[in-house]
Amino acid sequence: MAALATLPSPLAELRDERLERRGVHLQLKRDDLISRDVPGNKWRKLRHNLEAARHQGFTRLLTFGGAYSNHIRATAAAGRHLGFETVGVIRGEARRPLNDSLAYARAHGMALTYLDRATYRRKTEPAVVAELTREFGPCYVLPEGGSNGLAVRGTAELVGEITTGFDVLCCATGTGGTLAGIAAGLRGPQRALGFAVLNGGRFLDDEVRRLQLEAFGTVTTNWDIDTGFHFGGYAKRRPALDSFIEAFRDRHGITLDWVYEAKMLYGLFARAEAGGFEPGTRVVAVLS
Ligand SMILES: *Cc1c(COP(=O)(O)O)cnc(C)c1O
Repeated sequence: MAALATLPSPLAELRDERLERRGVHLQLKRDDLISRDVPGNKWRKLRHNLEAARHQGFTRLLTFGGAYSNHIRATAAAGRHLGFETVGVIRGEARRPLNDSLAYARAHGMALTYLDRATYRRKTEPAVVAELTREFGPCYVLPEGGSNGLAVRGTAELVGEITTGFDVLCCATGTGGTLAGIAAGLRGPQRALGFAVLNGGRFLDDEVRRLQLEAFGTVTTNWDIDTGFHFGGYAKRRPALDSFIEAFRDRHGITLDWVYEAKMLYGLFARAEAGGFEPGTRVVAVLS
C-alpha cells in the first residue's frame, strides 16, 4: 500500500541546560515530521488497519471522535490519499460553522454524522454500529482514537527505528495505544514513560494492558504513566503551559503541540529538574 508518510522519522538531539544540569541526555524522535497530513503516531496506528480493511474487501472506513480529534483528521486524510471513503461519527451536536478539524475532514471527503453524548457512550454496542452501517453501508470500523491491536503493532515498530542506545522512551498518552506499542517494542532494561494528557488518567493503565493483550497476547510491566501533568484535562491549557511552549520555541525553534507534546515535555523537564532521572540517563521523547 502506498505510504502516506516517510519512515523512519528523524532522531535529533535536544540540548538544554535544564536537563544537562541533571545529567539527562535527550533526543527527540520527530514523528511529527513524517507527514504533512497525518500526525506520526496516527499514521503508525492506521497503517496495518488500512491494510486489513483492504484485504477484507472494505472500501469505506468509519470511526469516532470528538470535534477536535486528530484521529478524525488523520483518517480523513489517509482515506482520501489511499482511496477509501470515510465516515466520521462525532460526539455531540452538529455546530456551524465547522471548526478547523472538521472542516479539514470534510474537505478531505469525510461524511460527518453526529451522536448525542448518551448514544455516543454506547457507540461500540452492536445496535448502534448496525444503525450506522445501515445508513452508510459496510464499513471497516476503527475505534475512537484509532487504538486497537493492529494500531499497537504499528506503534511498536517505532522502537526498532532508534539505532542509538537509550534508557527511557517517553510519549504523550491519550488513549494509550502509542504507549502500549512502544513498551512492547523495548528491550532489556529499557522503560517507557507516558504522560497522560487527560484528567483521571489512571484508567489508562488498564487500557494499555488491554491493548497489549489484543496486539500480542501478553502484557509487559516495563512502563509507567505519569498523571500529574494534564493541566486541567484534555485540550485544556494553563498559563504555565503556554509559557513553556513559548520558551521552548524561542530556545529550540520547535512549536510544540499543546494538546499532547507540550504536556509530555513539561512533565519530562519537571521530573528531570526534581531529580527523577539518574544522572547519565538517556531519554528519547516521541513528538507525534
Ligand atoms: C493522538 C496523539 C497522541 C496520543 O496517542 P495515543 O496513542 O492516543 O495515546 C499523542 N500525540 C499526538 C500529536 C497525537 O495526535
